[in-house]
Amino acid sequence: MICPAPPQRPPAGWPEWESVMRLALEQARLAAQADEAPVGAVLLDADGRLLATGHNAPIAMADPTAHAEILALRAAARATGNYRLPGSVLVCTLEPCVMCLGALVHARVAGVVFGALDPKAGAVASNLPGAALPFFNHRFWTLGGVLGDECGGLLSDFFRARRNARLRHGASPPPLANTPAME
Ligand SMILES: [Zn+2]
Repeated sequence: MICPAPPQRPPAGWPEWESVMRLALEQARLAAQADEAPVGAVLLDADGRLLATGHNAPIAMADPTAHAEILALRAAARATGNYRLPGSVLVCTLEPCVMCLGALVHARVAGVVFGALDPKAGAVASNLPGAALPFFNHRFWTLGGVLGDECGGLLSDFFRARRNARLRHGASPPPLANTPAME
């Protein structure tokens, strides 16, 4: 099974993917305000309607699965009363990790649009050809780099501020290998 190619244009009502990504960026900023790694996601249905939004909240929710993508999928499934979300498109500020990749396959999303690559934990382009793994029974298209600099900049600013705060409080910075993954 070959991965479908991304569509030429976003669904009706959206002039460009960047306009959808701006909504995901708003979500990411909400995460940063709550001191969570700034990652945001929105989910559109097949007709371009906004189904759900989500932002990273593993600390607040004491839940390792509370990534932006998972929370958006959960909210959409609850809203539609269906754990399958065929035809939907997830738009996320950061390349999804391996956990979110699994959830996206289970939800049967049609496509994933992301902003920044995640060289440490990304599972659809950076470290795994996630949408094309041979044992998956579902494929989705991917489109990366939409407002990528802005999405990535939000994350690097957040982690830089956190490192500086730690230094100001006299703690030594963590060794590079132990820096938290972006999500
Ligand atoms: Zn994830």
